[in-house]
Amino acid sequence: MTSVADNLRRIAASVPAGVELVAVSKFHPAERLREAYDAGQRVFAESRANELVAKAEALPSDIRWHFIGHLQTNKVRRILPYVSLIQSVDSEHLLRCISDESVRAGRVTDILLEVTVGSDESKTGFRPDVFKRFVDSWEPEMTPGVRVCGIMGMATLTDDTDIIRRDFTALFEIFTSLKDAKFRDDTKFSVLSMGMSDDRGIAVECGSTMVRVGTDIFGQREY
Ligand SMILES: *Cc1c(COP(=O)(O)O)cnc(C)c1O
Repeated sequence: MTSVADNLRRIAASVPAGVELVAVSKFHPAERLREAYDAGQRVFAESRANELVAKAEALPSDIRWHFIGHLQTNKVRRILPYVSLIQSVDSEHLLRCISDESVRAGRVTDILLEVTVGSDESKTGFRPDVFKRFVDSWEPEMTPGVRVCGIMGMATLTDDTDIIRRDFTALFEIFTSLKDAKFRDDTKFSVLSMGMSDDRGIAVECGSTMVRVGTDIFGQREY
């Protein structure tokens, strides 16, 4: 079995300049994260609030923690002190909650809007039609506690690379049209988070600026 450090070096070398590598560490114990940290990795992503908080308290404070799971509004306050980017904002209700809690805490929280493309019904995220209605009625000033930095999404789980490419292209178009509509002069709106262990090569070809890699770094997760 190759080590976390070897995996990380190999993957980091394959990710082009300008694309951020996020290490998805969900379900792996803190010692495994420490190996990645010692190899130089500083950005980690978790999908459960309690797990993120426990790991953030156990590991060095210069780690930047991203949240990538379905976030319940009653957990927002708990993770805010630890999180540097919430990638999985999948409803207007959650966006408003994060904004309100951030204003209350005297901070501005960086977030991505998660949009569902493709045919996988089990996926979370804004449905494209709901997303369109939301964007038409929302202005950034309405949620002053958040800074919308871009879009996050996933491709359909399939071996068919044409479908994967179609889904990533759809996400790229959603990213570009939101940028044109609301963030034309905002340099912070620059993140298109797409691509995981199996499909990150295609994602990068389709314009990804942030890949989220778990299995290829840490091995299989135990559920
Ligand atoms: C688990 C997860 C990943 C990582 O997937 P791997 O296939 O292990 O690389 C990426 N993004 C999200 C949203 C995830 O939940």
